[in-house]
Amino acid sequence: MITRAVLLYLSRQFWLKDKFAYFPGFRQMTRRFIAGENIRDAIEAIRELNHSGITATFDHLGESTTSREEAVADVEEYLRVLALIDETGVQSNVSIKLTQLGLDIDEEFCFQNTRRLVGEAKRRGNFVRIDMEDSSRTEVTLRIFTRLFREFGTVGIVLQSYLRRTGEDLGEVLALGARVRLCKGAYQESAEVAFEEKREVDDNYLRLTKRLLTSGIYHGLATHDERIIEATQAFVAEKGIARDSFEFQMLYGIRRDLQQRLVREGYRVRVYVPYGRFWYPYFMRRLAERPANLWFVMRNLFTG
Ligand SMILES: Cc1cc2nc3c(=O)[nH]c(=O)nc-3n(C[C@H](O)[C@H](O)[C@H](O)COP(=O)(O)OP(=O)(O)OC[C@H]3O[C@@H](n4cnc5c(N)ncnc54)[C@H](O)[C@@H]3O)c2cc1C
Repeated sequence: MITRAVLLYLSRQFWLKDKFAYFPGFRQMTRRFIAGENIRDAIEAIRELNHSGITATFDHLGESTTSREEAVADVEEYLRVLALIDETGVQSNVSIKLTQLGLDIDEEFCFQNTRRLVGEAKRRGNFVRIDMEDSSRTEVTLRIFTRLFREFGTVGIVLQSYLRRTGEDLGEVLALGARVRLCKGAYQESAEVAFEEKREVDDNYLRLTKRLLTSGIYHGLATHDERIIEATQAFVAEKGIARDSFEFQMLYGIRRDLQQRLVREGYRVRVYVPYGRFWYPYFMRRLAERPANLWFVMRNLFTG
């Protein structure tokens, strides 16, 4: 799909962020997918979600950090988030990206940064989810995750059904006894490493879901795809799997109707709540997933 490829290309052009920000209506436009610029905005958004029976995961927007100072500042931001979760009592864990914590600078530096966070989360009885980035980072992300899981246990990983390797990775992660968030995958990948056809990605998602649901471990199924969600519900009913033994996960602002419906039906739902100033690549990936969102953006840009 050309539009998807172009939008994903643009998502990596960080200099465009400032150009974008000058348009009137920019705040309104990003607010659909992003809770706000600071922690308090995210807390408010999460409070609202909690009121409707939905748990959350904080995402302080940031990735591809090239400065040690910025990486350490992000660790500190996340330490504040963990403290604030305890102070306010909101139901939430945290999601991080390793390139935000210095992966592109040095693996050991990134490991130590992430270790600080996971250690603090454990001390507070909370949990850290490591997001999965593009396939050039899969191997190293799994390596850092495995070290941390062995030391702390209170950390989970994301796997992507569009990658051909994921069936194997899943076997290794399940052998550790770790919790997985399964998603389709949001980056531009080559046919060598990823399935090209949507049908293959979806079929693989369902295959992997069945392995997760019968593993006896609590996992997260991150998708807004109703066909997959319905197939999952049918599988759960057929196998007599408890509805509270896993959770559906969705992104802030996407398919709120579906999030609510699942809660009403007795399923657990967690929403990924991004906040912060570094919104550009996240926002562009959301547009790439559904180019129809471009119309929504255009309307806001020129009428905002
Ligand atoms: C909680 C969570 C965490 C994630 N973490 C990661 C991660 O760590 N690494 C990673 O690579 N990806 C991550 N993703 C993104 C994921 O890989 C997909 O790109 C994204 O979820 C879209 O795929 P889908 O499963 O919803 O199915 P799709 O087939 O893309 O979409 C199914 C339907 O969902 C709706 N929908 C999907 N996306 C949008 C959108 N942007 N705007 C409006 N409607 C939409 C539409 O109705 C669409 O028809 C995460 C997603 C979620 C929900």
